[in-house]
Amino acid sequence: MRIFRVLVIRYYLVFFVLISCTGNSSHLYYEMPKIDAHVHIRTDQSDIIEFAEAEGFNFLSISTKSSSQAVIDEQMHYARIMNEKYPERLSYITTFSMENFEQPGWGEEVIRRLNIDFEEGAIGVKVWKDIGMTFRDSLDDFILIDDPLFDPIFDFIASKDRTVVAHIGEPKNCWLPIDSMTVNGDRNYFREHPQYHMYLHPDYPSYEELVASRDNLLARHPDLRLVGAHLGSLEWSVDELAKRLDLYPNFAVDMAERVSHFQVQDREKVRNFIIKYQDRLIYATDFVLNSDDNFEERKSYLEKVWKLEWNYFATDDTLNSASVNRSFRGLGLDEDILKKLYFNNAIQWYPNIFN
Ligand SMILES: [Zn+2]
Repeated sequence: MRIFRVLVIRYYLVFFVLISCTGNSSHLYYEMPKIDAHVHIRTDQSDIIEFAEAEGFNFLSISTKSSSQAVIDEQMHYARIMNEKYPERLSYITTFSMENFEQPGWGEEVIRRLNIDFEEGAIGVKVWKDIGMTFRDSLDDFILIDDPLFDPIFDFIASKDRTVVAHIGEPKNCWLPIDSMTVNGDRNYFREHPQYHMYLHPDYPSYEELVASRDNLLARHPDLRLVGAHLGSLEWSVDELAKRLDLYPNFAVDMAERVSHFQVQDREKVRNFIIKYQDRLIYATDFVLNSDDNFEERKSYLEKVWKLEWNYFATDDTLNSASVNRSFRGLGLDEDILKKLYFNNAIQWYPNIFN
């Protein structure tokens, strides 16, 4: 049954390729093993793995929300099941609870739990934007990621040779009014999530403070491998991102849900940036799948994103995307660079992936 379904998908794709991709690049798309290194798979249904397999993709699924252990357990439940069923197709990343931060023993308890998660197969630890933008300490100040209370935890993660994925801050657009934002993805997200739209919350930490807190963490823990999610919240300027990549050799970034920000910058500049930092950039989409989602709808959404973004990196075609209000040209990157973005860099920066 499973093979039958895969065959049907393949047959469908052969047809799809004829209408959607250009010659060599589409051939390469199916040939090249690829990793979508930032997704949130919150279901134990196999369909998504089978679909990804037909497209040549594996997943790195990330636990994100850290408000309580119960919230984490729910996300980890699906990650563990899927990883057990498909160890070579889905790896996962855990997180830790911010409950009882500042209480004596909080750090020890976090380390104890992370140790169990690592032994069970988690390949890294996510820290999320709630650190910096939601959680406050006993003095009612925002807790930032460079708070010294986190230091023993980051030392522990480094000692276990695991990777930190840091989503700290938000796109710079988040501090602008909706109609000044550069991409439609951000306009839609912040319209729907006013609690995270910092333009409406001038009393919260600034964009610069949040980026600086992450930079301090990188500087203080040079032995810690850290992947900045969403282009490290420096999506708006390849120059700013390049500065951090130069300063911190322990820093790489994933592109999850931020490829559109490349597409609104100068093409030659972005292309040169990617060529120069070809070992530090990791392909990812931030795709979310919950168990009660309409699978067919989510699947065609993901297929569209994968194909459009592949065409952007692999071809020099003129392209259009719902997130960008003008057409733009693909980057036409060489096969060896595509291989790094889509596969090798994820293996490099998450050395325990798919083990
Ligand atoms: Zn995400």
